[in-house]
Amino acid sequence: MGVLAVHGVPSASTFIYYGLHNLQHRGQEGGGIITFDEKGEWHSYRGQGLLSEIFTNGELKTLPGSMGIGSVKYANASKGGLNNVEPLFFRHHSGDFAIAGEGNLVNARQVTQYLERHGSIFQTDTDSELLAHLIKKGSKEHRIVTIVKALNMIEGGFTFVIMTRNRIYACRDKYGIKPLCIGKLGDGFVVSSESCAFEIMGAEFIRDVAPGEIVTLDHHGLRSTTYSHFNRHRMCAMEYIYFARPDSDIDGCNVHAYRKEAGRRLYRENPVEADMVVGVPESSLSAAMGFAEESGIPYEMGLVKHKYVGRTFIQPVQSLRELGVKMKLSPVRSIVKGKRIVLVDDSIVRGTTSLKIVKLLREAGASEVHVRIASPMMRFTCHYGVDTSTPEELLCSHRTLEEARQVLGADSLGYLSPESTRDSCFGCADPCQACFTGEYPTLLYDDLVEND
Ligand code: SF4
Repeated sequence: MGVLAVHGVPSASTFIYYGLHNLQHRGQEGGGIITFDEKGEWHSYRGQGLLSEIFTNGELKTLPGSMGIGSVKYANASKGGLNNVEPLFFRHHSGDFAIAGEGNLVNARQVTQYLERHGSIFQTDTDSELLAHLIKKGSKEHRIVTIVKALNMIEGGFTFVIMTRNRIYACRDKYGIKPLCIGKLGDGFVVSSESCAFEIMGAEFIRDVAPGEIVTLDHHGLRSTTYSHFNRHRMCAMEYIYFARPDSDIDGCNVHAYRKEAGRRLYRENPVEADMVVGVPESSLSAAMGFAEESGIPYEMGLVKHKYVGRTFIQPVQSLRELGVKMKLSPVRSIVKGKRIVLVDDSIVRGTTSLKIVKLLREAGASEVHVRIASPMMRFTCHYGVDTSTPEELLCSHRTLEEARQVLGADSLGYLSPESTRDSCFGCADPCQACFTGEYPTLLYDDLVEND
């Protein structure tokens, strides 16, 4: 999921729309924009699918105002449907507001039970609605106080943007698991899940929102509030490895630079003799470049990605994922035929994609296929909103390296170590690697452990 907010910029919805396009890789199943105009009216438009499918017929004209928030969403099987597409809008006698978020609360069940015991009734499965209800529990206090209190009742990896009639609040979890950054746009400000959105909007990067920070944007400018003095820098390693765009900088580290360094280290830890390095497009290309540079093995375009097909990893149903793999890639037969290939991929979740790609390359005539993965073996479930599914579905949760190699049908298989995954990260000293190591940065609540 990705969130975006604009404050103090005329025609804010147009900027949000273009900014969201640069966040489309974070979710392709829904999106929306809510604005608040100078006449004191709210405007909202949401839909399912890609942004280009949602905003087809001049809907942006129906979203006037110099302040707005937007979201793109992916959904797992239990959280799909238009109802769960954000931003959400809430009416309340103490002041209407809109909210969009990303990530996942690890104590969502406990918070839901608490709120339901106090009379709340929910319309969606979203954490944003939970936060909205928590905020409104303190409706007699100043808004920032109620937001601070609400954020201190939730645990997990998350970001939220909250818009009232006067201001926007941008919040990041105290563990720093999810990315959020601020930019300057004309006389106003932009907040985005990733800095790559700023380029298309013409905004200038200012800084990351700090873990445990609430950034307030209003006609006074930008203000910072710390909602928790317990804060850590445990940025999700999968943001660097897979999710984020290579032109984004997250917590002081460029994503492309990270992946290239991971590729270099991958070769040093897993050397192999081969004729060419082939990266799995698109998120693995930077790591493949690093691998090729370090090894001296030439980089070749042995696989071509079909455009306009969604990312398989974030499609919610297994049958759709498998169809996606077939539609997604083609081997370049004349390049790979008779060659020993190092296939560099960023990560393996279920193994469905990797298995098919190895098969595609062999069918195209490759004499050997050596698979190198620029991240550690994924063995554990993510509880922070990345749909890595259950441990049973993960290729490596119950398999040795050799067993995983056999499943993939590769000549050899090598992974990056957790140490190199950490050390490829220049700005973030100790990223979350819980899906590789099982060491979760937050508390885990009973129901999560039971579900494992
Ligand atoms: S468990 Fe994995 S996917 Fe989830 S936040 Fe941590 S590193 Fe990212």
